[in-house]
Amino acid sequence: MASLFDEHEFFSNDEETVQKAARLLVKIGCCHYCVLRFMGEKKLHFYHRNRKPEIVKFIHEICGEDSEVQLEETEKICICCLGILQQFCSDAFTQKIIEHVKSSGYIFSNYLCSLMLPVSLIVRQHSVYLHLRDEFAAMYHGISDDDIPAVKEVWKWQNGPILADALAAPFNMKSPFELNITFTYPHSNKECGFLTDLHPDIFRKRKTKKGDWEMFSRANVAKAVSETVNSIYQKVYKFPPLTPLESCICNSIKCQHDSVFVAGRYNKYSRFLSQTPWLIEGVKKHETSVQELICNVLNERYHPVECKFSASGREDVDVKMLGNGRPFVIELINTKRSNFTAEDFVEMKNKINESTKSIFVRDLQAVSREEIGNLKEGEIDKTKSYSALCWSQKPLTEEQLSALSTYKDLAILQKTPIRVLHRRPLASRKRLIHFMSATKVNDNHFRLKLSTQAGTYVKEFVHGDFGRTQPNLSCIFKTDCDILELDVVSVDIDWPKRLDQ
Ligand SMILES: [Zn+2]
Repeated sequence: MASLFDEHEFFSNDEETVQKAARLLVKIGCCHYCVLRFMGEKKLHFYHRNRKPEIVKFIHEICGEDSEVQLEETEKICICCLGILQQFCSDAFTQKIIEHVKSSGYIFSNYLCSLMLPVSLIVRQHSVYLHLRDEFAAMYHGISDDDIPAVKEVWKWQNGPILADALAAPFNMKSPFELNITFTYPHSNKECGFLTDLHPDIFRKRKTKKGDWEMFSRANVAKAVSETVNSIYQKVYKFPPLTPLESCICNSIKCQHDSVFVAGRYNKYSRFLSQTPWLIEGVKKHETSVQELICNVLNERYHPVECKFSASGREDVDVKMLGNGRPFVIELINTKRSNFTAEDFVEMKNKINESTKSIFVRDLQAVSREEIGNLKEGEIDKTKSYSALCWSQKPLTEEQLSALSTYKDLAILQKTPIRVLHRRPLASRKRLIHFMSATKVNDNHFRLKLSTQAGTYVKEFVHGDFGRTQPNLSCIFKTDCDILELDVVSVDIDWPKRLDQ
């Protein structure tokens, strides 16, 4: 017997006490792994599946020939883990997980596993713990509930290495790929009901017709259990926990990949293309959009559940986006693949550019979630440059036109334009026109170049929007002006990094 104990590390070195505790645990209906947990074993290798026969033998030997102890407990559902460390730690169940992951089509280089366990486990474990502490005061002196290896951890110690081997991907706490396994116990709510009476402050009644209590979560149950005075807990929740007639159920095995972000810049050469799908009463106004042209290609490679496009501002449908292009970022949610090389990005970029003449994409690259902040922050101070073909009712002289370049940082006040009032609130905004110049095209036409603060409504600055933008070009030139064609020449934001693709 002594040699058996030598290898293990329990809460007590006294063999007789450990033996008694183990017998009690077996007697009340704990599985082998729960016995090992409550005795304090924290050495991972003892929980490996290939050592199970050894552990079973060890516990049988500890329990000895005691007639009260039922040794066929493997047949019964464990009162503590409700089957999690029994049938859900079997080759059959591991195989089920592996098949599910393999058929889901994700490609990943490491993985993370999270288990959702029924709240009954917390209530049951606490009951057993309190009883052990009373019975074996010396062994459990200074040991809290949290010092006992958790069911969740033991499950991972046992299944983690097997899954890693089968999936050819090591376990990694920071892996973007997560395997999520949810278990429930059909009698959880009934079993935890006593906590709502003890802690109406933690569990609030919901406004339903029946006045139900809010759902039990791991957080609120753990809080309620820890805030209950031990003597009251033991009075209300009788030891030992009821023998379960059924085990937990595995509700779902889900694969989930963190969002992946792809950034770049786009040019738009069409005056009939919107940035995002333009829907009127659910019907698309245009065949495609900048977003769709880019996302179509990314979707083919990443297979995300959803693709979210955002850009540093937007241009109107009839406005071209020239120069180095407008920065954009796409969030690909729950993607099937993520590790692409620089060559892959060149290939994706080329595929987008070959698919259309309306847009051109450059600097396509993967960026981190943190880097996206740079796009949003840069937005406030960024400067945009435009080129516009304008019309004036009266012919303008060269002198009038060249006088425009004397304005530096002209402050204008813009009320929300009439054309966007249906989707933007009415407000007055101050914007700066940093610089302007104009050249004559013919008597009634001139080309205007200007650089402005982000968010300036350029069309309104030219025609005045019935006086809602002050000052405006029509009032500066003292004749009606309008804008015929507008191009964005540059969006001065140094993000994402330029690539030599
Ligand atoms: Zn168990």
